[in-house]
Amino acid sequence: MAVSAEHIRTLNKYEKTILLALERGMKNYSWVPLEQLKTTTKLAESEITYRLSRLIEWGMVRFNPVPYDGYALVFSGYDTLALGTLARKGTISALGTQIGEGKESVVYDALGLGPVAIKFHRVGGRSFSSARLNREYMPEEGHCPWLIASRKSAEREYLALTTLHPKVSVPLPIDNNRHAVVMSLINGANLNRCQLECPAEVLDDILANVRAAYREGVIHADLSEYNILIEDGRCVLIDWPQWTGTDHPNADTLLSRDIDNILAFFKRKYQLDYDRGDAMQWVIG
Ligand code: ATP
Ligand code: MN
Repeated sequence: MAVSAEHIRTLNKYEKTILLALERGMKNYSWVPLEQLKTTTKLAESEITYRLSRLIEWGMVRFNPVPYDGYALVFSGYDTLALGTLARKGTISALGTQIGEGKESVVYDALGLGPVAIKFHRVGGRSFSSARLNREYMPEEGHCPWLIASRKSAEREYLALTTLHPKVSVPLPIDNNRHAVVMSLINGANLNRCQLECPAEVLDDILANVRAAYREGVIHADLSEYNILIEDGRCVLIDWPQWTGTDHPNADTLLSRDIDNILAFFKRKYQLDYDRGDAMQWVIG
């Protein structure tokens, strides 16, 4: 399932044409018929089937023979399209190695104007039914729910970053294409893996940023020690696709859960005992 930088560079123009035709076709079909690909690409059938066989071998496309010969784009084909566009725009020039993998994304470092992180959202696939329950922006079941949901998730994260940067310590948003978000690469470790020298300072810094986000009308809604990076002793809050507005009916519940997660972590690991009511009042005050 991993993106291969080598295949991105060697993708033939016909293969690119076919991936784009599949992407368009997936608005109307779960499995795009060969006939449809012939019409939209205007390529010979032998050329199309040869190119498809390579794309299938690279894990970018899947084939289904019943009830008709149909082809579907899968995540790494979609990754390749996004990377191609980002490379053409000059946002990135080279893809590095995988630096993170969560429940619903895979993150790589890459080279842009400087070092950047590129996060490919992967909503759906195996986890689709549970994801649908959790995410209010999940569309109705369409022909290709994972593609739409992953794109929306990336757009939503990008919107949070552009809204919050630089008032809140978040990665600098650089670009968004399809289900991919390009942002500054944070040079630090996840909070759960750090051994802090001044934990009280870091906790205050986190609460100050939760407060600053709240003032911009934004609640993270999945805040924990896993979604905070520590760079030069300062916190950076990451992983924003599920953010909600402070006008959301469950805003208070979501905010107090975020704060609880953080306070519980600092109590468990550093024996810091902050009053949750006081912290909550301070954040919304
Ligand atoms: P979920 O919480 O749904 O599983 P996720 O964990 O897939 O989401 P993120 O938390 O955004 O998505 O990213 C996964 C990991 O990738 C992070 O824990 C972090 O280690 C790394 N990472 C993400 N963004 C950056 C960045 N801008 N700079 C450096 N590392 C990053
Ligand atoms: Mn995460």
